[in-house]
Amino acid sequence: MFKSIQWKVLTIFIFLVVSVMVVVGTFLLDRISDYYHDEFRTQMEEAVFTDGFVNQLSNAAKEAAPLTDLRTILDAHAGRMGIDSYRSYYILNGQNGELLFALDGSTHVEATQNLMTAMTGRLGNAVDRRSAVMDYACPVGNNTYIIYISDSKEELYAIMENVFTIILWGLILGVALSIFLGLILSRTIIAPIASLKKRAEKIAAGDFDNKIAVRSRDEIGQLTVSFNTMAADLKRSLDDIVTEKNKVETILAYMTDGVMAFYRDGSVMHINPAAKEMLSPEEGENFDSLFARLEAGITINTLLYLEQEKAVEKNITIGERHIKAFFAKLTPRRGPADGIVVVLQDITEQTRMEKSRREFVANVSHELRTPLTNIKSYAETLLETEEKDSIGHNFLQVINSEADRMTRIVRDLLTLSQLDYGHNLQKAPFPLPALVREVVRKQSMAAEKAKQTLTFTDHAAHLPPVNGDRDRIEQVLINIISNAMKYTPNGGSILVDCTARVSEAVITVTDTGIGIPKEDLPRIFERFYRVDKARSRKMGGTGLGLAIAREIVEAHGGRIIIESEKGKGTRVQIILPIYGGGDSA
Ligand code: ADP
Repeated sequence: MFKSIQWKVLTIFIFLVVSVMVVVGTFLLDRISDYYHDEFRTQMEEAVFTDGFVNQLSNAAKEAAPLTDLRTILDAHAGRMGIDSYRSYYILNGQNGELLFALDGSTHVEATQNLMTAMTGRLGNAVDRRSAVMDYACPVGNNTYIIYISDSKEELYAIMENVFTIILWGLILGVALSIFLGLILSRTIIAPIASLKKRAEKIAAGDFDNKIAVRSRDEIGQLTVSFNTMAADLKRSLDDIVTEKNKVETILAYMTDGVMAFYRDGSVMHINPAAKEMLSPEEGENFDSLFARLEAGITINTLLYLEQEKAVEKNITIGERHIKAFFAKLTPRRGPADGIVVVLQDITEQTRMEKSRREFVANVSHELRTPLTNIKSYAETLLETEEKDSIGHNFLQVINSEADRMTRIVRDLLTLSQLDYGHNLQKAPFPLPALVREVVRKQSMAAEKAKQTLTFTDHAAHLPPVNGDRDRIEQVLINIISNAMKYTPNGGSILVDCTARVSEAVITVTDTGIGIPKEDLPRIFERFYRVDKARSRKMGGTGLGLAIAREIVEAHGGRIIIESEKGKGTRVQIILPIYGGGDSA
């Protein structure tokens, strides 16, 4: 209560009034005292130094009855000296200070400073405000007598008491008035602030209705207007947020993908119905226990302290069901991750379709092999009987070469489906540079024919044997080197290099051929993707060479990088881990 503005205003007002009154009162009382003392002295000086008053007294002192004469003169000047009931004059012996006469009948006078001065023959006219009396002592008749005038200050005290009483009343009245005014003032300030406070409390509780009435145009009025505007803005923003939240909740509730969010400690923040249906989490299960049960091989801490911002992908199998899970950090604008969000995609159907597609391709390729062999052998037999350059011979040649092309496609498709099943890598350690040299040697005839320079540089003399499927790697090398030759015009050059790095071997095939346009580069590894279909076909390409090469290299835990510039040439890097990326698959 004492902390309220009302109390603060009242305290300030009272303090102000009291301090003003104290300062004014002190000053006033001091001034009155000063004035009174000064006035006394002036009055005395005037009385003593005019009309030869001192001379008269000195002369009287020398007379036969000096006391009577002195009294007569003093009585005559009593009015000018302001003698009254508070002020009296005294005649003292100038030598020993004995009181000879006192107008007020006193028998004793205090030995004041002025009296002592007069005893030494000088005029005692000093003003001492602390002294109990105001006095004036004048030696006369060669110090035979001292005329001493003393004022008891009672009149001054009476005036000061009156003034003090007035000040006290003023103080009481001032305090009462300041309490009254303070209350009114603080009320005018507090009432709107109190209603602002009430409204703020209501807003905090979610009640945005009821505006506060603006009653003035002062700062408080402006504050009220700003507050009302702020409340309206807040309501709008909150409505927007609620709408957005509802939208997100509806989307999450009806989407077929599962979404789960977890706090940093692993407890569940949110789970949508699809995720519930997919994972059937048990009561109280947290991130680690849930994904350990599903054998996803992931913990919340590994995700939270992961440097990369990309989502981590895991495949989860629950019975017959295949689920792809994407784990990403929930990162606020600043600071560390708040938690983890998991998106779950049911890929059971996709996996099944993929499987049947692979089976279909494998079956078709397999089934096509025999008829193709038959077509080819019949065409070859017929070719031998047909006369050269006859129409029949030409047609049969086309049939023969098309049968060859189809055979190559079927062979490549079968290779791909074998790789898709991923079960026929025959891994064993073998010397890689020797293999590269052999492939280059095998291709050199064709290069010579095309007037191309095919060179091999071996920078991997100390490379240990590479653990891999030698035949598959040979196939990769053939595909890449033959591509370089296919897409390099006659007279061009192809450089094959083998280099050893820390734990990898790098085979680089650089050609000075036609290059690959920038826009085609990202799709170059897709099955049947060809930049120039006609050229590829003419050169006996199937559009599967790079796809096969990548499958094989990736199955070995390696990677292929292609850099190319149209019209200038292409550089393909085959990077293989030296220790073969684990055991044979
Ligand atoms: P293809 O059997 O048609 O050669 P690939 O899968 O081996 O199929 O290659 C895909 C396509 O990539 C080719 O059709 C060709 O357009 C392009 N390509 C591959 N290697 C090179 C190269 N060294 N220079 C230019 N283009 C190339």
